[in-house]
Amino acid sequence: MRLNEPLARELGFDPAARSSEDWAQIFSGNALLPGTAPLAMAYAGHQFGNFVPQLGDGRALLLGEVIDRHGIRRDIQLKGAGRTPFSRGGDGRAAIGPVLREYILSEAMHALGVPATRALAAVTTGEPVYRENVLPGAVLTRVAKSHIRVGTFQYFAARGDMEAVRALADYVIERLYPELGGSENRYLDLVEAVSARQARLVARWLAIGFIHGVMNTDNMALAGETIDFGPCAFLDEYDPTKVFSSIDQFGRYAYGRQPHIAQWNIARLAETMLPLIDDDEERAIARATSVVEQFVRHYNGAFVGEMRSKIGLQDEQDDDLSLIQRLLELMQESKADYNTTFRALCSAASPDGAAGLHAQLGEGDGIAGWLEQWRRRLEAEGVSAALASERMEAINPLYIPRNHLVEEVIAAAEQRDDFGPFEALLERVTRPFEPQPDSGHYADPARPDERVMRTFCGT
Ligand code: AMP
Ligand code: MG
Repeated sequence: MRLNEPLARELGFDPAARSSEDWAQIFSGNALLPGTAPLAMAYAGHQFGNFVPQLGDGRALLLGEVIDRHGIRRDIQLKGAGRTPFSRGGDGRAAIGPVLREYILSEAMHALGVPATRALAAVTTGEPVYRENVLPGAVLTRVAKSHIRVGTFQYFAARGDMEAVRALADYVIERLYPELGGSENRYLDLVEAVSARQARLVARWLAIGFIHGVMNTDNMALAGETIDFGPCAFLDEYDPTKVFSSIDQFGRYAYGRQPHIAQWNIARLAETMLPLIDDDEERAIARATSVVEQFVRHYNGAFVGEMRSKIGLQDEQDDDLSLIQRLLELMQESKADYNTTFRALCSAASPDGAAGLHAQLGEGDGIAGWLEQWRRRLEAEGVSAALASERMEAINPLYIPRNHLVEEVIAAAEQRDDFGPFEALLERVTRPFEPQPDSGHYADPARPDERVMRTFCGT
């Protein structure tokens, strides 16, 4: 049993009020907290572009909602507690690997400042689950601002139940976008607001080198949080076409395609609300289309903003995007490790701190020219090398949950019942910007023999 105590307190629980054994009973689904009435949610979704009219929580169970210490309503959900009416052929259970993976990845994302569902607890069940191998079973408790997905809207729209779509949209506005309550065309505005939030989210993913891996419409939450950590991964070397997920055969969800896919998903959301947007279908389509097109503007603005901060700049200039793109090109040419390069850049404003950067990008004219241009920009903004380094080290992580580190954690837990590596990795990735003693292994990219090229959703 692993309880995320700071999160538990944030949600209003007192970790000390119950024994670890009692919490384990609650967060494995064997005992209920007073006031809980668990339910499994229905949803549909486009999986790899193909519409499936009924998916639903097949291995997830919503325990209920709490109002947290900041007054925000949060869902608490078990993942892997057993079968539900939506389990279809599945067993409703989860193996320890995906549970530990989601725990680490979601907590790392949160620490990196990326909106994400959180991990409240992980409990081993002591029961085997049967996949390709027999694996130890576990249950993850996750916390979300809401579990409503694009696929939730699609579920009702596909059944022609527009009253349900309207009720759902009204609920989402009240809970997640209250500022739209009085707006004249609240449903169109909802699409716009979800699109803007999603654009910012995906810009953050690209900025930290995150690949979600399964951006199906059922895995996109209206709250704008990263959700459903399946075969997700962080980039090692920079490559926009990078795919890790074993089930993404055609690279639909490659790193660099994520903004395009997010927009595609927003278009699917807009479609579910067309009759609410305008009585005249053609007009509704025209209005929805123009909103969906705005995604590109939201995304580009957010991306340039993210990357500008990553290189220590604050003032907006016309050539910002080309300066950033040039750096990315140099990284791609040198097959440089994405996060190591940005971390090395933190000290490179001063020429005697640039050795780490040259180790990634070489000594060629390309990088020399880029550095000259970048340093001129810093100087023009009146930013000293020390200040640039301080700013940049606060947002360019030293520790990210690299695939090979996550795999080591899972292997230790699966094979030796050893959770030491899990705790050790969690310790680093939840304080990702701060150098910690004896942590070189956690900061370094995989050695060639450690590399993990494929990730699995492990359902
Ligand atoms: P995912 O791609 O992991 O988000 O899951 C897609 C769908 O498969 C969802 O409807 C899940 O609830 C369902 N699913 C995944 N794993 C299981 C399982 N072990 N048992 C039942 N349903 C599952
Ligand atoms: Mg899912």
